[in-house]
Amino acid sequence: MDATGCFGRVALYVSGQLSSPDIEEADVADNDFDVIVIGAGPGGYVAAIRAAQLGLKTACVESRETLGGTCLNVGCIPSKALLHASELFEEANHGTLAKWGVKVGKVELDLEAMHAGRLEAVKGLTGGIEFLFKKNKVTWLKGHAKFTGKDSIDVAGTAYMAKNFVIATGSSVTPLPGVTIDQKRIIDSTGALELDKVPGHMVVVGGGVIGLELGSVWRRLGAKVTVVEFLDQILPGMDGEVRKEANKLFKKQGFDIRTSTKVTKAEAGGENIKLIVEPAKGGDAETIEADVVLVSIGRRPNTEGLDLDKAGIALNKQGQIEVDHDFRTGVAGIYAIGDVTPGPMLAHKAEDEGIAVAEILAGQIGIVNHEVIPSVVYTYPEIAAVGKTEEEAKAEGVEVKVGKFPMIANSRAKTNRDTDGFVKIVADARTDRVLGVHIIASVAGTMIGQAAQAMEFGATSEDIAYTCHAHPTHSEAIKEAAMAVNGKPIHI
Ligand SMILES: Cc1cc2nc3c(=O)[nH]c(=O)nc-3n(C[C@H](O)[C@H](O)[C@H](O)COP(=O)(O)OP(=O)(O)OC[C@H]3O[C@@H](n4cnc5c(N)ncnc54)[C@H](O)[C@@H]3O)c2cc1C
Repeated sequence: MDATGCFGRVALYVSGQLSSPDIEEADVADNDFDVIVIGAGPGGYVAAIRAAQLGLKTACVESRETLGGTCLNVGCIPSKALLHASELFEEANHGTLAKWGVKVGKVELDLEAMHAGRLEAVKGLTGGIEFLFKKNKVTWLKGHAKFTGKDSIDVAGTAYMAKNFVIATGSSVTPLPGVTIDQKRIIDSTGALELDKVPGHMVVVGGGVIGLELGSVWRRLGAKVTVVEFLDQILPGMDGEVRKEANKLFKKQGFDIRTSTKVTKAEAGGENIKLIVEPAKGGDAETIEADVVLVSIGRRPNTEGLDLDKAGIALNKQGQIEVDHDFRTGVAGIYAIGDVTPGPMLAHKAEDEGIAVAEILAGQIGIVNHEVIPSVVYTYPEIAAVGKTEEEAKAEGVEVKVGKFPMIANSRAKTNRDTDGFVKIVADARTDRVLGVHIIASVAGTMIGQAAQAMEFGATSEDIAYTCHAHPTHSEAIKEAAMAVNGKPIHI
């Protein structure tokens, strides 16, 4: 133990609670860990639990009042609660229940109850992490962590040391220049989870996953929703055909989608917000009036206030912490995972990295295959992908074969009358190995799991085509798309 490790014990010593011989013992007992994880999101809390399961003395620092990070508190879980509830409302209000012989009376929205359902889901799950921390003997250090050296941090005025640190501080909303978030009329994703009335007109700035999901919630509940996207298509990064199809389907649902358009300013003075937009390439400005503007142009890594310089950690141009294959930063004993590092900002990517880094710290082999990270947009229909898009594979010079199968030819989708979308499989033309799977379908998020597993096992399209799929399921469309890679689907 070096002299720099004495902050917390010195505080106790100075306040008279410790006599000098107690210092070493108190430090070792309370403030010295094998691993300290900073941040209790899906990356951090999973890393902490796994590290403790593997016998390491583990603490996890979290500055929020509850565990679970962005995902459980203001991200994946509350957004899915509202997506589910609003889907039920829309189905009952404007859906096909009557065609199925289900007659409902007048449908009314009880927004307060809907929010209560969201909060219940969040409370249950964040409380569950607290339970798991206790069960696995992970110490929760409450407060904001900042480095005081390469092997020490300060949390709320107390010093802690560890052999290893895992930075899992996640990300927050990227601000839009010229637009100030007030969380009432100009909101970010967190504000969009908490609106206390349905806006007349909501403008969503950014046609990415979060904007389209939360835009879907409020459209289903009765808002007119306009999406303003800088690029020439919504859903950047996804497969070209999928983006086109999604654009078509969302427009059919009533979304007004303005692509190749940029927002330059928002004026919140009068009754409505005046949003000034102009063509992305420049041109005449136009004003769009809205009751609520949702800014969702992306997320940026949380590194502010961590005093990373004191640990000797530098950031890349995107403000992220670069790591190697084993999640090591350039500084011995300091690792980083999840949204604060490069790669897709997804909860399950962070979780898998959390498990892997803990296993590495315990002397085991921890691996994440970053080539096979599924992603899902939980709109209706859902949109899901894993692996390379056709465009990416071709840009890398790979010759590809593509198989597609429309959901309208899938017996279960046809029976359920949820026939929008298709499955697309991109395979290497030379080896038949599956490079990517892209799905638009009502249950695409569930379907993509099998594609990810097949790719993890190095499957060819033929492997999938000759795997027996249960009938009648939406997943049979994956089998048929795999058959289509070699031109032999049965049902089209
Ligand atoms: C509206 C919305 C919907 C989303 N939906 C999905 C989805 O459906 N599926 C999906 O995969 N992903 C989704 N995401 C993304 C997902 O939430 C993130 O990718 C995921 O939470 C990242 O996990 P993480 O552990 O890296 O960080 P986070 O979950 O951001 O957690 C980091 C934690 O660290 C804490 N922290 C930061 N700095 C410090 C510090 N110095 N000291 C102490 N504590 C600190 C923060 O308070 C936070 O709790 C969504 C995000 C949003 C905003």
